[in-house]
Amino acid sequence: MTSPSILTMTNVSAGYGDVLAVRDISLEVPVGTASGIFGRNGAGKSTTMLTIAGIVACRSGTIVFDGDDITHLPAHQRVARGIGCVMEGRRIFRQRSVEENLLLGTVSRRARRRQRTSDIDEAYDRFPILREKRKELAGRLSGGQQQMLAIAQALMSRPKLLLFDEPSAGLAPAIVGDVLAIIDALKADGLSIILVEQLIDRALPHVDSFALIDDGRIVYRGAPDDSESTRMARNVYLARGSDHRDGPSI
Ligand code: ATP
Repeated sequence: MTSPSILTMTNVSAGYGDVLAVRDISLEVPVGTASGIFGRNGAGKSTTMLTIAGIVACRSGTIVFDGDDITHLPAHQRVARGIGCVMEGRRIFRQRSVEENLLLGTVSRRARRRQRTSDIDEAYDRFPILREKRKELAGRLSGGQQQMLAIAQALMSRPKLLLFDEPSAGLAPAIVGDVLAIIDALKADGLSIILVEQLIDRALPHVDSFALIDDGRIVYRGAPDDSESTRMARNVYLARGSDHRDGPSI
């Protein structure tokens, strides 16, 4: 029996002004799974994420989340329904303390004070270093700790689906593994995940299935244990000269 989908995108196109950055994207994310969206620089990965989040408008096609059509729902209502985002570049409030950042993450739910405190405690249990640093300015944390804070902040809205846009960006290679392990743990706790990455080789073991995007279109769908997948991924990167940050090491 196949599991129900938390997200279904059907023939979605979106862009900026005259630029159509993604075209006819169809994607199915089964509940409790991690789906990868991979591709080189400028392929359309972030635009796909921003369209799911409601930050970039969907020009055609439909997006169904948890059984409801959300194609034209504003971003804040998508957060309230259970779509959480960990955006590229760790969009935290650097001049605010760790705890203030977490409190701001609860705003979308208009949670009661006791509930907010218990949610923040839960975040501290998951990321003990954030408890230790809760009074520190977020901007003073290390890159890996800032990424943890960005994830913890996204969890404050109690998402069912968590979007990760290049969580490895700007992190030391040793820390990338820690962040990917957090994604595994969140999935084990029942969250559905979409993971956008340029580092295909690092991300592949952490997804159940993936789509390769090139020039705004899905050019391949695969699973990590499929040897054809790694061959295709390599081909897409090499096709027009890769600007892959670490080189195509698959
Ligand atoms: P990266 O890994 O560099 O973030 P990406 O795969 O996420 O790349 P997108 O950021 O989605 O790709 O960009 C897809 C296309 O849309 C590119 O051609 C890009 O130049 C264009 N684009 C992205 N953002 C804008 C914008 N704000 N205005 C105009 N064009 C944009």
